[in-house]
Amino acid sequence: MEKYELLPLQLRHEGTAVDDNFFSPRPANEASILRAHTPDYWNKLNTLSLSKSEIRATGFPLSQDLVDREVLIAGGSIEAAEFALQHGIAMNIAGGTHHAYSDRGEGFCLLNDLAITARWLQNNQLAAHVLIIDLDVHQGNGTAEIFREDPTVFTLSLHGAKNYPHRKEMSDLDVPLEDGITDEAYLKQLQNALDQVFNQFEPDFILYQSGVDVLATDKLGRLGLSLAGVHQRDRIVLNLAKELGVPIQCSMGGGYSQKISQIIEAHAQVYRLAQELYF
Ligand SMILES: [Zn+2]
Repeated sequence: MEKYELLPLQLRHEGTAVDDNFFSPRPANEASILRAHTPDYWNKLNTLSLSKSEIRATGFPLSQDLVDREVLIAGGSIEAAEFALQHGIAMNIAGGTHHAYSDRGEGFCLLNDLAITARWLQNNQLAAHVLIIDLDVHQGNGTAEIFREDPTVFTLSLHGAKNYPHRKEMSDLDVPLEDGITDEAYLKQLQNALDQVFNQFEPDFILYQSGVDVLATDKLGRLGLSLAGVHQRDRIVLNLAKELGVPIQCSMGGGYSQKISQIIEAHAQVYRLAQELYF
């Protein structure tokens, strides 16, 4: 997709990032994948033997390239998490594949990079309690399913009530939003939700799915946020992580505005904010 090439170009062009700030990820290894996905599903992906209906549910034709790409994305989130442990924050230019379930792909997601990374951190004793803040307009249904019985990972999802997925899973905290909601009401709901989370859960690592399909200009989003509203949203999340001293890894998530420049601008904001707050 175009935005994954344009975003790094924009960040370099404007001086938000220099070449040294970028890393090329290694693919996630099989052991890491199997901490979030069932052996049966991984085997079917790996041998390209999903059934026709399983392939249809993923939203795209299955190919080795596609599987390799998702394995690389998951590796990118793991490596970004390592950098976040060193620097406080790090980003994956792709990622946020929150519709992937433990045993199936859905909604253009085959492997759940958020879940793979959370379990990787725990398995390596780098974090015990992981908070997943999912602010993409679509519910993090796969993530919710994977961690349904796991009290060590808290899943928070703010999402369009009437948007995909139409059959939602239960996150630890779900905040369904009305169509057309604008900045002020959205930010109030976000603040309330974060207060609720931190009243009951003490994370030592945060995974942030910072999808920008909440923008009013988004073709799929149905919400009414402005660019300034999305910027404020990111500021609330990053500020909180910074103040509490909890490392945060960001995955980009969705963004489908008509104009690619809107998408890039919205994603770039979170990088600028990271520079402002952390470096
Ligand atoms: Zn989305």
